[in-house]
Amino acid sequence: MSTYKKNNLKIYNSLTGKKESLKPINKESVGMYVCGPTVYSNVHLGNVRTFMSFDIIYRYLLHLGFKVRYVRNITDAGHLENDSDNGEDRISKKARIEEIEPMEVVQRYTVDFHNTLNEFNLLPPSIEPTATGHIIEQIEIIKTILKNELAYEVNGSIYFDVIKYNKSNNYGILSKRKIEDLVHNTRKLDGQSDKKNPQDFALWKKAEDSHIMKWNSPWGYGFPGWHLECTAMSTKYLGNNFDIHGGGMDLKFPHHECEIAQSIAFNKTSPANVWMHANMLTLNGSKMAKSTGNNILPGDILTGNNTILKKPFSASVVRFFILQAHYRSVLDFSSEAIEASEKGFNKLMEAQKSLSNLKSSSSSDMDINKWLENCYSALNDDFNTPILIAELFNSVKFINQIKSEKAQITKADLKILQSKFNEFIFDVLGLENKNILSSSNDKLDSAVNLLIELREEARLNKNYALSDKIRDDLSKNGITLKDSNNETTYSIN
Ligand code: AMP
Ligand code: ZN
Repeated sequence: MSTYKKNNLKIYNSLTGKKESLKPINKESVGMYVCGPTVYSNVHLGNVRTFMSFDIIYRYLLHLGFKVRYVRNITDAGHLENDSDNGEDRISKKARIEEIEPMEVVQRYTVDFHNTLNEFNLLPPSIEPTATGHIIEQIEIIKTILKNELAYEVNGSIYFDVIKYNKSNNYGILSKRKIEDLVHNTRKLDGQSDKKNPQDFALWKKAEDSHIMKWNSPWGYGFPGWHLECTAMSTKYLGNNFDIHGGGMDLKFPHHECEIAQSIAFNKTSPANVWMHANMLTLNGSKMAKSTGNNILPGDILTGNNTILKKPFSASVVRFFILQAHYRSVLDFSSEAIEASEKGFNKLMEAQKSLSNLKSSSSSDMDINKWLENCYSALNDDFNTPILIAELFNSVKFINQIKSEKAQITKADLKILQSKFNEFIFDVLGLENKNILSSSNDKLDSAVNLLIELREEARLNKNYALSDKIRDDLSKNGITLKDSNNETTYSIN
């Protein structure tokens, strides 16, 4: 049965613009590379969404019984401001502003990244290589591309020759951009560069004396280009040709387009058979981004310490909110939307809890095999989590009917429903039954409000010793009371 499902999996391939059956190079094993974060600031919820999209893909491939090697890198050097070939390295810039070592920046935000993804129950990848740990591999690739005459040196920097490459290859194969348009658009932007052509991109940049993160190379001291890092790390651990390459939609061009060109120039092989792009999370209709400040930090959703939300939400509710949209759709974050998700999530988890106590009968009112088929069809159709969730809600309706004895289920069908319902919500969707946080939040809310009332009563009775004690003891426990406009509110630190 599981082989049958494996063969049915279709994935939308950005390279061809079509949904295609997954045909792994090594039958039972899948190699997947996903571009990781540039660790120069805290991850925002948009970043989390992209990594969660690939977590679902990873989880479902494992669920189907594939052996998966999932490589997701850490970019700890070479990613310049504005994703361009000029400007400051994002990590060096942060180090300069904070007056710390670049590697302290890297350490701080790598830890934040891991903690955050762990909080949202994302599985760790099989290998998590760093760009700075693969400088030698990058230098070797550059040497080969130079030998193949698809790159050139200018003043200690090496650039990829896009025009020459495009003569016998298609630069634009992934992004569907035309080279003529690129030439036209990039000329204005890149005035001071020493490239032969404006659309060429750096494989290696000469480091100025002031540049902190630099390595010796055959071309002098410098640092690698951002695109090259991913080529070095993906091919090192997955081979020259592997199954899936993923990242956020905004990485399709130039990052992934350049990766394809580099690989072909290096080993004459297009790196990945399937390219997958996860769509953006927006806030107020605009893309969430670190650079613009239009973002919300995951930690601030969990504590409720932000101006967007009226209350905190558990990590599983946030996860459920994200998975209610398909990974290729844009999703807008708002207070109302996540509140609605919380209600749905609680309903799902209530049903899950009651599942083990359901009584079976001699007949079934539910076609369990049809339901199961619908669930797998949803996932096999390019990991369609919203449809899967809709199917799960169909079964919730049924579970509630059985509970109130308005419907029946046989013992055998109940067993399938119980095991598959749990597999879908816990193993595939990665939800955790921790809505306890929201119900315990409600309880905490009632308790603190009761203390606020008692404090008010104490104040009216001029028992200031007691009213101050309530305020101070709450404060010691991380709960701050705020008095304004005859009303007392609280925040959790
Ligand atoms: P970065 O650290 O900026 O390289 O981003 C890490 C990952 O998050 C990349 O795959 C980006 O495409 C993705 N990403 C950045 N902003 C968003 C967003 N607003 N929504 C979804 N994914 C995003
Ligand atoms: Zn990458």
